[in-house]
This record gives sequence, C-alpha cells and structure tokens, in this order.
Amino acid sequence: MTTAYITHPSFLLHDMGSYHPECPERLTAIGDQLAATGLDQRLDHYTAPPATREQLARVHGGEYLDLIDAASPQEGLHYLDPDTALCPHSVTAARHAAGAAVKAVDLVMSGDYANAFCAVRPPGHHAERSRAMGFCVFNNVAVAAAHALAAHGLSRVAIVDFDVHHGNGTEEIFADDPRVVMVGTFQYPLYPYSGVEPLGPNMHNVPLAPGSGGEALRAAVQEHWLPALDAHRPQLVLVSAGFDAHRDDPLAGLEFEDEDYAWVTAQLVDVARRHAGGRLVSSLEGGYALDALGRSAARHVQVLLEG
Ligand SMILES: [Zn+2]
Repeated sequence: MTTAYITHPSFLLHDMGSYHPECPERLTAIGDQLAATGLDQRLDHYTAPPATREQLARVHGGEYLDLIDAASPQEGLHYLDPDTALCPHSVTAARHAAGAAVKAVDLVMSGDYANAFCAVRPPGHHAERSRAMGFCVFNNVAVAAAHALAAHGLSRVAIVDFDVHHGNGTEEIFADDPRVVMVGTFQYPLYPYSGVEPLGPNMHNVPLAPGSGGEALRAAVQEHWLPALDAHRPQLVLVSAGFDAHRDDPLAGLEFEDEDYAWVTAQLVDVARRHAGGRLVSSLEGGYALDALGRSAARHVQVLLEG
C-alpha cells in the first residue's frame, strides 16, 4: 500500500501579507522537496473536498462558524486575532484544509491506504471550539478525529502533536473526552503559553525547555507518549505535524534536526501498526524555515511511505 497525499489549490491563495511567516511558499517548499527526492511519484495524489458544515460543527460552535463566514472579506485582510487574518480566499482554504483531513480519514478507513499526509494551510491546532488564533481558523485534526468517531464508529483515537507550539485548541476541544488521548511535545515558555497544566487526564503534555533537541524528544516519546498510546490502544492515529521545532526555524528555540522527524514518524507508524492496523493520518501544522520544512516534511512522508 502507498501513502495518500492530499492538498488543494486554494491553499496557495490564502495570503496573510508578504511578511507573514505562514505563507504559501511553505507548501511549495514541501512539494519541491518531494519532487526532488522522487517521493512525489510514489504517492497517490488527491484534491481535498471542502469540509461540510456538519463536519465542522462536530468541534466548532455554530455561532463561530457563522462568524467566520461573515468575516470573510471581499478584498484586503480581516484580522481574527493579531496573527491570524482572512483574505478573500482564506475561508475557502480553511474549509478545504479541514476537508483534507476528513478525506484522509475516509481513505485510511477504507483500507485502500495505510496512511495519508495532508499538505494544508491554514494550520489548525491552535483553533479552539469558538476562537481562531495562532494562524489557525478551523482545527483540522480535531475535525478529522471527530469524523472518525462519528462517521466511522471508532471508539478510541489518538492525537499526536510534535509542533513546537502547544496544541491548545485540540486540547480544549477534547479535554476529558475518554475516546481521545492526546500526546504532545512543545517548547515552554513559548506562545500560546498553555499546556503545562493539562486540562484533562487524557492529555499527556511534555513541555520542553528552550534549546532542547532530539534527545529530549526521544525521552518524551519513550517515557510519556508510548505508555499513554499503548494504554489507549487507538484504532486510528492522527498527527498534528508541525516542523517548527527544527533548529533552523525562526519562530522558536528547539533544536530538532531532519532525522528527528524521521525517527518520531517511525515511532508513530509502529504505534499505528500495533493497535490500529497501521491507520495513520498526518496533517501539516507549523514550520517556517522553508528549506528545513521541505526536508523534514519529506523525511516524514518517506517514513510514512515505507511504513
Ligand atoms: Zn507551531
């Protein structure tokens, strides 16, 4: 079985201004690296459908969905928070970004693919039930998890988040939901300054001090993530794949290297194989050093392909 790769042209049109680090070139960098390494030809490519209102409303409030629709500008930028803006194409992109993760769940649950990678923008893990923040509008991975539970009848899913920033939105949405276990590493202190006190017993957060590198990641995974994941026995593994803990990243201060992303991906492929028939869906979150993002995401995809 190969890996499904899901993206959409609207992701290149979501543009928050020429100096914004969450830029269309991020996806181009990943696509270029996949082409240069030949991995591109081994993937099955899909175009993301838009998420339906019903799919979004499993994790977002109806008033919030109305607010986002109403905030979509005819021209220029509309700021949802100081870091998060909508251009005229952004709401379309956000719907397709969440829809990519839903499509990935459907493809993996069909048995045609063991795993899938969603190359999406805007990212999702900071988006709370009723609040856009930190470059995120809809919580793509949360929408995917809720879809797996509601539409595919799963009773146990895991969410893994190795972005350098704490996935506060995902935690807010699923805290105390016994069907979901979430494990994560993130730099602390760093935006959004949450996560040190988990919001529920199903949240396994491992804050890492600035300057931490691959050894700290390995310790977190082996001592915290794997015991929690093996205890939960997830039927599907969902990954918030942010690559901004890389040592080259300009937005944060961790020191992960390309090979750390290959290593952590292999661990997650093993977890999926042990408990979930190999089923794993990964969705892009952060990563702002374009070269490092392209290389790290390509290593991630390569391990998924080989898994
Ligand atoms: Zn991030």
